[in-house]
Order: sequence, then structure tokens, then C-alpha cells
Amino acid sequence: MKLSFSVEDERFRREVADWLDTNLSGEFAQLKFRGGPGDEHSFPAERLRWEQRLAEGGWTCVGWPAAHGGRGCSIEQQVIFFEEYARAGAPGRVGHIGEGLAGPTIIAFGTPEQQARYLPGILAGTELWCQGYSEPGAGSDLANVKTKARFDSERNQWVINGQKVWTSLAHESDYCFVIARTDPESVGHKGLGFFLMKMEQPGIEVRPIQQITGTSEFNEVFFDDAVCDAGDIVGAPGDGWKVAMGLLGFERGVSTLGQQMQFQNELDEVIRTAKANGKDREPMIRQRIAQAHAELKIMRYNSLRVLSGQSGSDGSLQREGLIYKLFWATWHRSLGELAIDVCGQQGQLLAAAPYELTRLQALFLYVRSDTIYGGSNQIQRNIIAERGLEMPREPRPS
Ligand SMILES: Cc1cc2nc3c(=O)[nH]c(=O)nc-3n(C[C@H](O)[C@H](O)[C@H](O)COP(=O)(O)OP(=O)(O)OC[C@H]3O[C@@H](n4cnc5c(N)ncnc54)[C@H](O)[C@@H]3O)c2cc1C
Repeated sequence: MKLSFSVEDERFRREVADWLDTNLSGEFAQLKFRGGPGDEHSFPAERLRWEQRLAEGGWTCVGWPAAHGGRGCSIEQQVIFFEEYARAGAPGRVGHIGEGLAGPTIIAFGTPEQQARYLPGILAGTELWCQGYSEPGAGSDLANVKTKARFDSERNQWVINGQKVWTSLAHESDYCFVIARTDPESVGHKGLGFFLMKMEQPGIEVRPIQQITGTSEFNEVFFDDAVCDAGDIVGAPGDGWKVAMGLLGFERGVSTLGQQMQFQNELDEVIRTAKANGKDREPMIRQRIAQAHAELKIMRYNSLRVLSGQSGSDGSLQREGLIYKLFWATWHRSLGELAIDVCGQQGQLLAAAPYELTRLQALFLYVRSDTIYGGSNQIQRNIIAERGLEMPREPRPS
């Protein structure tokens, strides 16, 4: 198992750290440690400018191939980048859906025209994306999507009708990738298409959903004769499932590395709070902190174990990587519970009505979602059982 990085990788680490140290200053200093889970609504305009500053330094899309404008970083270097990013307290990324999901999918499955049209805006941090997968009747059972796409040959456009839900950051996004049924008679994963849609158009309405944190990170999105051009379907009509699953491989793989590297900062804040209010002297709290620390180390060693093995030719992580999402999401949910217990009675109080949450209160509320989005814990266990351990498939409805 690989336990350390090469000399060249360590040089890369210094380059990242130096750049962040120099640039996370002036107008960007206020963004330190902001914009993470439960704080997604903070400083959206400033964080967009930060995204563009990263782009100027060549620090967006570091894992994309150089041929598509990325840095072509190895997975090891991506880990290093995200580690240093977290260590510097650099803010939560506003462009992560484009960089981590839309971009890699367009690179893997898109046409040269789609790549030329859509990748530059993601690289430059000027165009933000959201994910139009889930619907009221299609979450874990994603193949049940009902949104329809009809081709209008006179206008040479696709016309989309239907509803998406839980669409993170739709209210700030310029584009949405949408799964919709190109064959209205089809069921399940057949007859789907994967569309690249402009958000600002008369046929799309975004309605925010208020979360228990009081903020609205996600939305309902309604498509009422919304359109995209004939060339904005990725893959062939009817082949959308293959593209959609390719994207989920990115979602469950390297794209979450950045988020995990923030965990150490959150654990540090929990420990600081415990030391300040005396909770660190309670044996049960001490034990839970020690456990959280140990499990975070396990998470890191597992990352290194995965890195030591062969990654997929598409950059996705292989079999050992399947436990990643289940492990980090469950760990993070426990960290939220520890955080609120460390706050003691203070944690039960709101500083001002309504919803002036502290960071640790927001963390506690937000982490409830980690074991749901990107594939719930139950679905992750199915994936581990069926793909990782080759156990019999669970019965599917016919
Ligand atoms: C914070 C957040 C952000 C999100 N952002 C987006 C986004 O940007 N775009 C988007 O498209 N979606 C987004 N989602 C939606 C997310 O992908 C879905 O919530 C998720 O896929 C689960 O679907 P569901 O909510 O419909 O629950 P359901 O699928 O109805 O599941 C309900 C319960 O049943 C369990 N269950 C379902 N099927 C099985 C099974 N076969 N075996 C065992 N147990 C099962 C689930 O684990 C869960 O506990 C987001 C969700 C959250 C919480």
C-alpha cells in the first residue's frame, strides 16, 4: 500500500500551498473556511470571483486532461491539491458540479462541438452547472424518470416537459444537465436522453426549497416547453442511461475528494469547542473525538489504498473505492452528532430567530443529507454487495 507521495508530488504540494497562501488574501481573505456544508449560501458572488481567480492560476479542473484545458493531474496530485486547499481554509467551490460532473461527462461522452462549447466556461469559472436527475418519483430508482423530450424537427430543437426536484444550486446555475425520456413509450433505463440545457429561458422555472438549515441550497425545477438545440444531447437519443451512469461514477468517485479534505477542519473546530467549554473532560465525548480522529485516518489510508491500486481508464476509482461514499457519509453524519453534543445546551439555542445558526449547528443539520444524496447508504450497500462482492442482485420490480 502506498503511504507517502513522491518527491515530485511533494514539490507539487508546495506549489499549491504557495499559490493559495499568496492568493487567499485581500478581498478573498473573508472567504476562508466559508461556503462548506450548511454554509453553501454564503458569499455566492465573492466565491464566484474566487473561482475565476483559481482559473487564472490554472487551478480549476486540475484532474481534467491537458488536451481539454485541465492540468492533467494524477489522482495523487488531485488528493494533494484538495488537501492543501482544505488546509489553507479556501472556500467551498461554486463550480464543483461543472468541474466534477458535467465536464468529465462531456469529455468522456460529448462531441468535439459540445466540448468546445461547454468546457471553456467551466474551466474559466464563468459558467455554473446543476444536475437535473431526481424527480418526485425518481430518486434511488432513477430509471423511473418521467420528464419527456420531444424532437421538433421544424425548429431543430429538443422540447422538454416535466419536473426535477432537489436540484442543488439551480438558482445560481447557467446550465443544467437533464435526463429525460426521448421515447415516450419507454420504461426503465431504455429510451432516455442526456441533455445540456440553458437555465435562463422562458420554459424553465426554479422554485427554492427551504431546508432545515433555513437556507435553500436546492430547488424544484419545472420544464414547460423548455428547449435546447439538436446538438445538445450527449450520446444518441435512447442512450442517456449510459451517459447518466458514467456521470454517477464521477459523482461517487474522485469528485468528492475535496469535500472530504474539509472534514479535518470541521473535526478541528469540534475539538477547539470541546476544549473551550470543558466538554473535552467528559469521558464519552473524549472517546467519540478519538474515534472520529481514528476513522478520519482510516478514510485517508483507504484513499491511499485505492490510489495504490489501478484506477479506471476514465479516472474513476475501482472496487475498493465502492466503500468510499458509505464510509465518509456515515462518518460525517456522526461528526455532526458529536458536534452538537459538544456544544451542549448552547447547541440547542438559536442566536437569533429564525435560523442564525452557528457553524456546528449548521453542520449537524446539514449532515443528515450526506447519507442520502449521491446514492443513499442503502443503495451504496447494494452496490458494494452486487458489484464489489458479486453477491446475487436484489430483486428488481419487473
Ligand atoms: C442535499 C441534497 C442535494 C441533492 N442534490 C441533487 C441534485 O443536485 N440533483 C439531483 O438530481 N438530485 C439531488 N438530490 C437528490 C438525491 O439524489 C436523492 O435524494 C437520492 O437519490 C434519494 O432519492 P429520494 O430522495 O427520492 O429517496 P428514495 O429513493 O425514495 O428513498 C427513500 C428511502 O428508501 C431507501 N431505498 C430506496 N430504494 C432502495 C433499495 N433498492 N434498497 C434499499 N433501500 C432503498 C433509500 O435508501 C431511502 O432511505 C439531492 C439530495 C439531497 C439530500
